[in-house]
Amino acid sequence: MSRTLFVTTALPYANGSFHIGHIMEYIQADIWVRSMRMSGHTVHFVGADDVHGAPIMLKAESEGLTPQALVARYAAERPIYLNGFHIEFDHWHSTDSAENVALSQDIYRRLKAAGFIDTRTIEQFYDPVKGMFLPDRYIKGECPRCHAKEQYGDSCEVCSAVYSPTELIEPYSTLTKATPVLKSSEHFFFRLSDPRCVEFLQSWTTGSNANGDKRLQPEVLAKTREWLGTGDADSAAKLADWDISRDEPYFGIPIPDAPGKFFYVWLDAPVGYLASLKAYCAKKNIDFDALLDPEGDTEQVHFIGKDIMYFHALFWPATLKFSGRKTPDNLHVHGFITVSGEKMSKSRGTGISPLRYLQLGMNAEWMRYYIAAKLNSHVEDLDFNPDDFIARVNSDLVGKYVNIASRAANFISKHFEGKLAYLGDVQSLQDQIALVADQVRADFEAREYGRAIRRIMAHADQINQAFDAAQPWVMAKGISSADDTQKATLQDICSRALAGFKALSVMLAPVLPALTDKVAKELFGSSSGYLWADATELPTQISPFKHLMQRVEPTMFDDLFEPPAAPVVTPGGEAIADTIDIKDFAKVDLRIAHIVNCEEVDGSDKLLRLTLDAGEGRHRQVFSGIKSSYTPADLIGKLTVLVANLAPRKMRFGVSEGMVLAASHNDSKVDAGIYILEPWPGAQPGMRIN
Ligand SMILES: [Zn+2]
Repeated sequence: MSRTLFVTTALPYANGSFHIGHIMEYIQADIWVRSMRMSGHTVHFVGADDVHGAPIMLKAESEGLTPQALVARYAAERPIYLNGFHIEFDHWHSTDSAENVALSQDIYRRLKAAGFIDTRTIEQFYDPVKGMFLPDRYIKGECPRCHAKEQYGDSCEVCSAVYSPTELIEPYSTLTKATPVLKSSEHFFFRLSDPRCVEFLQSWTTGSNANGDKRLQPEVLAKTREWLGTGDADSAAKLADWDISRDEPYFGIPIPDAPGKFFYVWLDAPVGYLASLKAYCAKKNIDFDALLDPEGDTEQVHFIGKDIMYFHALFWPATLKFSGRKTPDNLHVHGFITVSGEKMSKSRGTGISPLRYLQLGMNAEWMRYYIAAKLNSHVEDLDFNPDDFIARVNSDLVGKYVNIASRAANFISKHFEGKLAYLGDVQSLQDQIALVADQVRADFEAREYGRAIRRIMAHADQINQAFDAAQPWVMAKGISSADDTQKATLQDICSRALAGFKALSVMLAPVLPALTDKVAKELFGSSSGYLWADATELPTQISPFKHLMQRVEPTMFDDLFEPPAAPVVTPGGEAIADTIDIKDFAKVDLRIAHIVNCEEVDGSDKLLRLTLDAGEGRHRQVFSGIKSSYTPADLIGKLTVLVANLAPRKMRFGVSEGMVLAASHNDSKVDAGIYILEPWPGAQPGMRIN
């Protein structure tokens, strides 16, 4: 029976580029979507950028951009990654869209009308300089437990204590360094503790979808049991109501009838799934409301990481249910990606940049194959190991699968003009293929991709063994003068191998869409886009074999891993100094200064005397040892950088009121020149550098 599916991946927060974890999730979902389509199901597969919230607002501000311009920058680069890894969303949208505003506000209004919204006055830290309430991550101070300095407002990275920002000792705003003050404000809450929510979630989390499959994986269900309890009277007490509002200034969706209040980003982000589908439906003339009818047959499936399980297993279904909408049918939760057993780390040089992978010309389908081979239906981390990657791609994918075609096709092209023919009974061949293909199809549907790949490779082994046992290369010797039986036998052996290869191509099509498309079009001369049913259809003709896939060169990994962040020795010949914190740096007052005048100093062959304007309404005299590299004429009229709060120093030629910044080699015997710093055009005297 043909099913209709609405499939999403988690919405990436639009303050950065995709990392390998995003790509892994998209590949997992894309394989599933392709496999379901091959079964004849209708799938609407959508994504979107999650763009609202304080971090994007503040990052945009620090770069002198509007939030819209900042997120547009990331939106523009998304297709490079998605196309590069053959990830085919039907539509990619943004939570900053008219559809999302309308849907989020509608959901809120319905929840309010049904009695699920509370308002409470809460006291929070407020930055009096910036004029905004501070999210916990923008407050730092001393840990109340272990007294470590510079800890965030929600937890201590040294002793792992969790606390509220008001417990921090000597808290300060990371935005302005101001001491935050407590200020009250009215907040809106979604009543997750409402008995109706608890009752619904008890049933939803333990239930099955229309196909009889459990909505949640066993380990996800176990987690929700912890959060929800088992349905006894105290269950409701376990669930905290959820603060869904933020005060202006905020980049987000306004709460209806509440001036100055916005939806907290987590309310409108998942609604972005629906907004993206709605925009897609408009484009395709599909009735969105009918598609997501709560009583309808569409299955709603979310692929997410384990970090956002609480949200998707509790809040999201509850907000949908009590706003009268369709609730999700399945959550497909995956783990994280590690590299050679360790958490990825840029500073250790173990980060994999998906963009770098593509730029190095590494084949995207190697990555898709490797990730598929390692994924299963459980919430387990996936370890990326270069040696394992090379082995699986070179020995399995190329050595077993591609190899079948290259060996068998040459005999058929050379001796039989590309025509395939089978001797005797083909029914058992087809039955055997059907059996494997059906198991593989079921594995993909159950997201047991690793098991599917193992079955496919075991089948490839069988095909290779049968081919080797028949020794077609022996039979091909003197074939032009051989009898018809020998010719027919050789043709049969090669035809069966190629029928097997075609079946393997169908089975691998969800994982290797580009390669199998090439096989379909260029080798078997069929139209693109395999269905599962094509696996048992025996090919009758091939075109001459063309090269299909390169092996991985181990040296490619030398360039793949990003170099460690901090080199020990710099080109300047000096090791990087000890780490300081931002407070230490803030002690140095660096200003843009205009070089009003410059002259040589009588009696000194090193110094130049600079007259500087640092926007203070007076001039300063600064001596600088840069005469070996600059003449006064080089410098007059230029802008440079002044250390403005350096204590004045009395020198033989007069008092120096500060210091200008210049670069040089640490070893004075190395004459690499002296380079005075100059700001980019537009800087004005007196501007502070930080
Ligand atoms: Zn601590």
